Amino acid sequence: MNDTLKHHGLRNKLAAVLQKKGITNKKVLDAIRVIPRHLFIDSSFEGHAYQDKAFPIGAEQTISQPYTVAFQTELLEVKPGHKILEIGTGSGYQTAVLLTLRASVYSIERQLELFKKTNIFFKKMGYRPKKVIFGDGYKGLPQEAPFDGIIVTAGAPEVPKALLSQLKVGGRLVIPVGVNEQIMTLFVRKSLKEFEKKEYGSFRFVPLLENKN
Ligand code: SAH
Repeated sequence: MNDTLKHHGLRNKLAAVLQKKGITNKKVLDAIRVIPRHLFIDSSFEGHAYQDKAFPIGAEQTISQPYTVAFQTELLEVKPGHKILEIGTGSGYQTAVLLTLRASVYSIERQLELFKKTNIFFKKMGYRPKKVIFGDGYKGLPQEAPFDGIIVTAGAPEVPKALLSQLKVGGRLVIPVGVNEQIMTLFVRKSLKEFEKKEYGSFRFVPLLENKN
């Protein structure tokens, strides 16, 4: 598969669909226009790559719906140079959006198969996250904290305390919270002890799985 003018046109249409659904951040929409989403998924789904839909990516996981990616990224308010932690690398599409916004990205994935596959894909495509870690995102990444932003791309039954503690003051955590259905939730760290919490619409994610080892 390669990237063609046809794909480019489909991406422009997808960006227009996301704009209609309420995405306003120009840089986020520009990222959707340039990232070849069809290369992040199995070729059998290529024809659907630019529909606003989630798809299976193996290991019972999914690539998030473009609207969801755009919505979460908009809430994160990424600025160039921001240090961002992503929980759930998956296909790497969300990682690519963050990199396109010129963030410095750390990403954690707990499925070995996806971790390996996506690392190879990043190298092939020239995407350069600072680090991709095979491990449990519940614990965050204390050795690299604090972060300007943390984005969780799987449904969390509860908010992991470690993630809140790894935010800079002024930093933002975007996390879908719930079991069968999740409420998109934003925490902004106001001071060492205070967090502001805001809730947005409901979404459906694969579960954030805790490592029981
Ligand atoms: N951002 C990804 C979303 C993939 S779905 C994309 O757009 O493709 C969610 C991902 O979170 C899956 O790959 C799943 O394996 C991973 N995941 C689930 N629980 C996790 C945990 N505790 N730590 C790290 N990753 C986790």
